[in-house]
Amino acid sequence: TESLATRDPDLWKSITDELGRQRDEIELIASENIVSKAVMEAQGSVMTNKYAEGYPGKRYYGGCQFVDVAENLAIDRAKQLFGAAFINVQPNSGSQANQGVFNALLKPGDTILGMSLDAGGHLTHGAKPNQSGKWFNAIQYGVRQQDSLLDYDQVRALAHEHKPKLIVAGGSAIPRQIDFAEFRKIADEVGAWLMVDMAHFAGLVAGGEHPSPFPHADVVTTTTHKTLRGPRGGMILTNNEEIAKKVNSAIFPGIQGGPLMHVIAAKAVAFGEALRPEFKVYAKQVIANAQALADELQKGGLDIVTGGTDTHVMLVDLRPKGVKGNATEKALGRAHITCNKNGIPFDPEKPTVTSGVRLGTPAGTTRGFKEEEFREIGRLIVEVVDGLAKNGEEGNAEVEAAVKAKVETLLKRFPLYPTL
Ligand code: PLP
Repeated sequence: TESLATRDPDLWKSITDELGRQRDEIELIASENIVSKAVMEAQGSVMTNKYAEGYPGKRYYGGCQFVDVAENLAIDRAKQLFGAAFINVQPNSGSQANQGVFNALLKPGDTILGMSLDAGGHLTHGAKPNQSGKWFNAIQYGVRQQDSLLDYDQVRALAHEHKPKLIVAGGSAIPRQIDFAEFRKIADEVGAWLMVDMAHFAGLVAGGEHPSPFPHADVVTTTTHKTLRGPRGGMILTNNEEIAKKVNSAIFPGIQGGPLMHVIAAKAVAFGEALRPEFKVYAKQVIANAQALADELQKGGLDIVTGGTDTHVMLVDLRPKGVKGNATEKALGRAHITCNKNGIPFDPEKPTVTSGVRLGTPAGTTRGFKEEEFREIGRLIVEVVDGLAKNGEEGNAEVEAAVKAKVETLLKRFPLYPTL
């Protein structure tokens, strides 16, 4: 009966402070979003108490009749959203979704072909420090030197040379649409499975604003918390019944035990929201906003990798201003604009420094920003970067304070979680 505030004031304060931070800052981290109160309500529900190893109707525990309803709702809604016949909503994260597919289709030592981290891929696609890079013979493709676009010729050449058992398409910093049909052709040429990791753009697919990886992919993985705007978690989708069976066993009992039923309930809520007509409007606005922001940054003298974006994300090349990614992330942070430093393709700087920042519009769009606000944000970013260029690493306190004040004024018009 005791509230969190009185039961654990220290922890309660950390949550209250985090809410304050989210309210007071412009969130441009491309992999983040802002979930609805309904999603949080489901995630903070009594379903956290329930053990439900197994799958709906086939559990290893009693009393699962109501969590079964929640999991079936999540599955049915995801089927409808993405047009896939088989869905596993149990992966605890995007990384575990990928690990689950590898566990289903591969053996340690098998060859996989994925995009390298420095070109925009994800750790779990075969990067050296990740299990995917340690347990598999991971070959990595990248982007073209001349235009930073995905290098399909290289993918084909590496596939023919190394004969991977599985090819991964997708990544964490890819601003352009991926040619899934071309990946399918390459996979067929060498007899490989094609896995698409749509974590970043899943919400755009759900909203009908991005091509679907189906029917090209054998299996698709995603996170549920990025553009899809659900709780932190993962999911696996396929139209291949054999793969579905293997994936189910690979997740449980392969790599996970009891599923997080409260998170699955929240996934169901988010998928229900994504099925509504408003979500199509949201997805369209996410892209329009990203294009407006990219355009404004270019007008301010910054380069955008590949010259723009057709998704929610862009990579800003800071070199025209002579500033670094790490210093820019910090300076923008002082002005209450949150983003992350990010290597650009063929970056001469170390990953801890970088020549770029990655910016995304999913969270800001949820907050209600349209093109006009994102253009203003673009101009504010340029002001901060110019201050940094003039004053060096420590930035320009006067400019940063002035921008922070403008951020505050802008955010007042878009209250976040006003009833929390
Ligand atoms: N796949 C891609 C393409 C991602 O961008 C991410 C997260 O950034 C993941 C997988 C991993 O998701 P998680 O952080 O939930 O493990």
